[in-house]
Amino acid sequence: MAISDAKALREETGRLSRLLAHLCERPMTVMEVCGTHTVAVFRQGLRALLPPALRLVSGPGCPVCVTDQAEIDAAVALARRADLTLATYGDMLRVPGQGSSLAEERARGADVAVITSAAQALALARTSRKTVVFLAVGFETTAPATAAVVAEAARSKVENFSVLCLHKRVPPVMKLLASDRDLALDGFLLPGHVAVIIGLEPFRFLAEDYGLPSVVAGFEALEIMAGLVELARQHRAGRSEVVSRYPAVGPDGNAKARRLLEEVFDTAPALWRGLGRIDGSGFVLKKSFASFDAAQRLGVTYGASTPPEGCRCGDVLAGKITPTACPLFGRTCNPSRPVGPCMVSSEGSCSAYYLFRKGGHLS
Ligand code: SF4
Repeated sequence: MAISDAKALREETGRLSRLLAHLCERPMTVMEVCGTHTVAVFRQGLRALLPPALRLVSGPGCPVCVTDQAEIDAAVALARRADLTLATYGDMLRVPGQGSSLAEERARGADVAVITSAAQALALARTSRKTVVFLAVGFETTAPATAAVVAEAARSKVENFSVLCLHKRVPPVMKLLASDRDLALDGFLLPGHVAVIIGLEPFRFLAEDYGLPSVVAGFEALEIMAGLVELARQHRAGRSEVVSRYPAVGPDGNAKARRLLEEVFDTAPALWRGLGRIDGSGFVLKKSFASFDAAQRLGVTYGASTPPEGCRCGDVLAGKITPTACPLFGRTCNPSRPVGPCMVSSEGSCSAYYLFRKGGHLS
């Protein structure tokens, strides 16, 4: 629903807020799974408009944050190799590893190139004599772009290009969260960007197997509020359905992107910060693309997952605590001096809570 007039927008948001209060007779806990939703809720001051009975918790929806500590350490070890260039998105630079980060290695002279797209990493390889390793992180949203460059590298025989594939799949982690009785979730605000790619079908199990209402919403204030209203309606009526309130999402997602994923990747277990190894939650390159797999080509190994001392990012990502419950929040950890990834990333819960806490209602 697009309303351009500010007064009309305020009135409609207020109407949805009152409707939500009316519908939430019983306590209800909803998880927003997407980091963009976490930030959008704060930025638009929506927490202040939620009824006390509705508890909104943040989940593992920030791709930088869920990258496991062992994976960060492996990336730092690659950056130290003089025979290659590590190409990474800027958000990954400041994520602390054990004793170092990509930013620190870069400051010491490591060849770490900051790129804004997978295509840029491939372009870098075309003009370089060194091996270029693309640090591929993110969910189903960014994985198709990685698949496209791997397929293109194979077609055009760019032999000095490879990918450290750390991509993660969202439905398996949601299965884990849905079955966690301690979390006692009553519904999900589904990740909009991921749903654009994979559609609604991969989320049906949430309603069918776990009885959890699940709604895809857009990122504007009215879209988020309308999504929450739909969740509250279902909860009140004892219904559970998976529905989209985001016009960009169709039942089957984006067919071209899904084809690319199927062409280049197999699914495999993957490591998630704070959540451990989850079956089927990662993408690995198919055997036919093995020569572009940096893990195989360069013998990458993953050590122990030892998070920064005192950091509770794992519990934040699992929805077990809010960022303010971390003893380091705002004391030794802030966006200028982040201790953990949730304070580094622009989509991290800790950074969102820190930056918007004055205007938002913390639960
Ligand atoms: S406040 Fe900092 S140390 Fe605490 S969980 Fe968040 S990122 Fe980690």
